[in-house]
Amino acid sequence: MTIVLQVRQDRWRDHLASVTSAAPGLVPVAKGNGYGFGVDVLAAEAAALGMDTLAVGTYTEVPGAASFGGTLAVLSPWRPFLGAPLHSPRLVHTLSRLQDLPALAQQAADAGAPPPRVLVEVETSMHRHGIPAGRLGEVEPLLHGLSLVGWTMHLPIAADNTGQARALGAAARQVRDAPLWVSHVPVERLAEVGPQVRLRMGTALWLGAADALAVRARVLDVHRLERGDRYGYRQRPSRRDATLLVVAGGTAHGVGLAAPTPATRLRQRGIALAEGGLAASGLARSPFVVGGRYAWFAEPPHMQCSMLWAPPGGPVPEVGDWLEVRLRHTTAHVDALVWA
Ligand SMILES: *Cc1c(COP(=O)(O)O)cnc(C)c1O
Repeated sequence: MTIVLQVRQDRWRDHLASVTSAAPGLVPVAKGNGYGFGVDVLAAEAAALGMDTLAVGTYTEVPGAASFGGTLAVLSPWRPFLGAPLHSPRLVHTLSRLQDLPALAQQAADAGAPPPRVLVEVETSMHRHGIPAGRLGEVEPLLHGLSLVGWTMHLPIAADNTGQARALGAAARQVRDAPLWVSHVPVERLAEVGPQVRLRMGTALWLGAADALAVRARVLDVHRLERGDRYGYRQRPSRRDATLLVVAGGTAHGVGLAAPTPATRLRQRGIALAEGGLAASGLARSPFVVGGRYAWFAEPPHMQCSMLWAPPGGPVPEVGDWLEVRLRHTTAHVDALVWA
């Protein structure tokens, strides 16, 4: 247990309870790396919160959510080639193309399965998946052999999306009146979208109480180097007398994975270029905090550990000490959760 996600459970669960009670009908989302916790852990939390429905990302994530006994919605749209399970009565499929409605109904009928439960996705200004609003009129006759659970939309985060949700939701409900599932609408504006709206939420739910969460990693080795001493895979010479820290946490844990940020403004591009230059010269800021400061990578992170320079003039940690790591939770894979 050398890199862990520490969870202040009272604080974290208070946050979960306050979010879920403020948004009746909320559908928690547990997908990918389970937002740093693992899909299995979030499935158990969703069950403990009394949620009736949990959303996972893909069909491959369904077994990981086994401890959740309620309805499981799969967010990635169904495709004929996915080999999706047809006999599970608690599964809800997402259909995002007109031709997939009769295709799923037919697969289920051929397998002797009951009519699959489905959400039909409406295309939004995201343009990720969904049936264009102008073709929603074609949906009604294609619902034969399917059990419609609701309409669903994936909305962009940036813009004020309430108006879009309301307009598209109304268009869909003219075809067939059913609940409307949405993402990324502010809780306090849900009522403006219309009746029977269910909000899907992942990040703001699981990661919304930032002060309840901390990733920590152990110092595994400390080496004193003199100027000119070579170190690491790349055998670069040290530029000065310095302390090399070998810490738990490498690429396998998501160390060194930063979000690709859009460099839209000139100033941002300048910063990116500057950081690229630093990286090219072998210096990049690490997410490990030593004595209140980010330590610099001595070289790119290894699979399960990283080599860092102890910040000069600061305290030198000892083998076994814990360092804070500011990792992006959606790409982090820790060895264990520690409930504090
Ligand atoms: C991931 C996802 C969500 C949850 O997004 P967060 O930003 O983590 O809340 C909601 N809806 C769909 C379709 C998604 O893919």
